[in-house]
Amino acid sequence: MFKSNCHTHTLYCDGKNTAREMVEAAIGKGFISLGFSGHSPMKQENEWTMSVDDTQKYIAEINTLKEEFSDKIDILCGIELDSYFCGINPDDFDYVIGSVHQFEKDGTFYDIDYTAEHLKKAVDEIFDGSFNKMSKSYYSALADFIISTKVDVVGHIDLITKFNLDTFLFEETDEEYRSYALEAVDRIITAKPDILFEVNTGAMFRIGKKTPYPAPFILRHIFEKGGRVTLTSDSHSIESIDFAFEEAVEFIKKIGFEEIFYLTKSGIKSIKIVELYK
Ligand SMILES: [Zn+2]
Ligand SMILES: [Zn+2]
Repeated sequence: MFKSNCHTHTLYCDGKNTAREMVEAAIGKGFISLGFSGHSPMKQENEWTMSVDDTQKYIAEINTLKEEFSDKIDILCGIELDSYFCGINPDDFDYVIGSVHQFEKDGTFYDIDYTAEHLKKAVDEIFDGSFNKMSKSYYSALADFIISTKVDVVGHIDLITKFNLDTFLFEETDEEYRSYALEAVDRIITAKPDILFEVNTGAMFRIGKKTPYPAPFILRHIFEKGGRVTLTSDSHSIESIDFAFEEAVEFIKKIGFEEIFYLTKSGIKSIKIVELYK
């Protein structure tokens, strides 16, 4: 199966395990590479992000682990950079996942992926109760951020659907909704054709979402535009380091992709999907 994951959290942010425990779990699974992606410090301090001081400790510890386990696994020190990041330099990391987790209005920050109620509050207070207005704003902010910043991997592109099980919040087949998501994909691929879009199983583990991010219509569009994908578990604990990877590989294969990219110490590599079944 696919033996890599570049989206990994630890106790430095909102993960449940130490970086060392995550490395040992990955080695136990026979992983080729493991990338850490702690949540970047943000303009508004959060319990789920690293502080600026902790980010320095995080870099130091990951670098120690890199050396210690260099004969067993490729370890990379990345960051999950939020569009409202502050106090750090993206160039200090081996790679960057670019994500949008919040909206901001008049200095107040609203969480997108904390609970359905938090997202609804943002829709009501910022977007006049309109999920389409919210979607338009989210996707254009994400594309602006990815295009203007050093980002190597697009994080959970349709994160706003996290709590939309059984279309609880809005209709994802709506043409207007879909046009905003597809426009973001087009803008990102035009500006950065080699960027990786992640197929992310995180919400399958955490809240029982049925399929990974992104939704099939988005992933199909990425495929048709010649985009590249990686597979991640957005893992917050040792139990989920390769959660639902078999299902996700099937999902990627069904869309038409023939290879999946992954990060190593010597750069981005890819594996043919047929090889994953041998
Ligand atoms: Zn995230
Ligand atoms: Zn994450």
